[in-house]
Amino acid sequence: MTDGPDVVVVGAGFAGMYTLRRCRMLGLRARAFEAGTGVGGTWYWNRYPGARCDVESMEYSYSFDENLQQEWNWSERYAAQPEILSYANHVADRFDLRRDITFGTRVLRAVWDATTATWTVHTDGGEEVVAPYLVMATGCLSSTNTPDIPGLASFAGELHHTGNWPHEAVDFRGKRVGVIGTGSSAVQAIPVIADTAGHLTVFQRTPQYSVPARNRPLEVDEVAATKADYATFRERNRRMPAGFGSRYPRNETSVFDVSEDDARAELQFRWERGGTTFMGAFGDLALDREANEIAASFVREKIAETVTDPEVAARLTPTHVIGCKRLCIDTEYFATFNRDNVTLVDVGTDPIESITPAGVRTGGVEHELDMLILATGFDAMTGTLLRIDIRGRDGATLRDAWAAGPRTYLGLSVAGFPNLFMVSGPGSPSVLTNMIVSIEQHVEWITDCIDHLRRTGRRSIEATPEAQEDWVAHVNSIADKTLYPTCNSWYLGANVPGKTRVFMPLLGFPPYVETCRRVVDNDYEGFTVGV
Ligand code: NAP
Repeated sequence: MTDGPDVVVVGAGFAGMYTLRRCRMLGLRARAFEAGTGVGGTWYWNRYPGARCDVESMEYSYSFDENLQQEWNWSERYAAQPEILSYANHVADRFDLRRDITFGTRVLRAVWDATTATWTVHTDGGEEVVAPYLVMATGCLSSTNTPDIPGLASFAGELHHTGNWPHEAVDFRGKRVGVIGTGSSAVQAIPVIADTAGHLTVFQRTPQYSVPARNRPLEVDEVAATKADYATFRERNRRMPAGFGSRYPRNETSVFDVSEDDARAELQFRWERGGTTFMGAFGDLALDREANEIAASFVREKIAETVTDPEVAARLTPTHVIGCKRLCIDTEYFATFNRDNVTLVDVGTDPIESITPAGVRTGGVEHELDMLILATGFDAMTGTLLRIDIRGRDGATLRDAWAAGPRTYLGLSVAGFPNLFMVSGPGSPSVLTNMIVSIEQHVEWITDCIDHLRRTGRRSIEATPEAQEDWVAHVNSIADKTLYPTCNSWYLGANVPGKTRVFMPLLGFPPYVETCRRVVDNDYEGFTVGV
């Protein structure tokens, strides 16, 4: 027993905040460190114009407290970043979480001491905190990916990254703005920036599939209908493959079992309804290339119908499997390229040669800019964990343990790193689900486990190497049955040069939850529990 906390939590986003709350409920002393100056994680950093969640607001919120979910009112079908950040702040205030959070502080190093069965955590504030348990609530998309383009540092204008957006207002009026990237962040930001920028140049390496969000204000009576039995609604969503969307069930039928007209009608219906559940139109869209091609060509036709210049439309048309890079949802993304003040530059064929003080050089042409925005994504799922010097049993580093890609048991634990838990770690459903649903499930599992160890007088828990190997094989075997590994996505780490190509998240939320339950019922099967 130490004088310090029982649990050190790294991060005060939705995962960190719920960990604090849950620890307190179980009588565990917890202390969190957060690099930002406020709570909210993803929603604290990603303040770019147009930032909005792609899971509906009535679902993308905590379910752990009935009063909380009854009293909070979401205003739109998909909440915008400022509203989600207000919600995160409301939660922090309501449960008085801030008193256990040290803001503006990064954890640099964490070292396991087998003799005392404790972690010593070092921060950039020079503090050293000792605790038996370490919970990494560091988020899956929290380390930005800044491409190593020659001359980037020489750019003389304003330079921003969507994943680390300034807290002050950014003014696009009259400016020549460039955006590098066309993933989810760019797809949301581009239409908003184009509204006020003098000129917007979009540097696109790979065209993206995007489906309309069809965002709209929520009606008072639909909110009331959900709240009338919120618990049942949440439970139905937890039983969905991705932990959300029970209002829009997945159609398990093969697209080849219906007529061409019926297939089109179903895709059209989902296109008009909007949102990522477009991919649930048929059971084989994520499994079979020919089936996938039917949905992909449907979206390609929509692009051709929307974009007036056929040459621009052709450049905006993706050819890869739809859904293997995360599907974007948008408001007027493709139509934005019909504007006179928007230019699309293909940097897939002619990669960016350099950034100069005046702009971006590609294909021998310099595009002059006053502002450059990197919408170039994240070192996903492992980036933040590996930036911290984590040393487990016998001083082994997590960096070495994961040199050939992340290896975990259940996405919660790593062999050789006792009493270290990850919320939504690689090998868990995480980014392929409603993150808040996954976070709640993980935080409850982790804190119940710590409580169990404490009540049974055990000092440590650690995944066995065998259970970990089996788990890694299991995660890969599921991914390999799908089309997910077929393109260069961040799910595979393929967006970061040099990163090992491994499919990191696990597909299928309900069977995963069942496995986590079974592990506990079988007395923490796959773990070594130390006295
Ligand atoms: P992303 O999906 O990884 O997209 C990054 C973009 O930058 C891609 O178009 C990529 O091109 C391009 N890029 C990267 N390096 C480049 C280089 N050197 N030269 C030219 N282009 C380059 O990142 P993101 O848009 O930030 O989204 C990441 C994830 O965050 C999403 O998939 C989603 O899970 C989450 N997110 C969600 C929402 C939402 O809820 N609506 C919004 C934003 C983000 P390539 O495709 O060729 O690699």
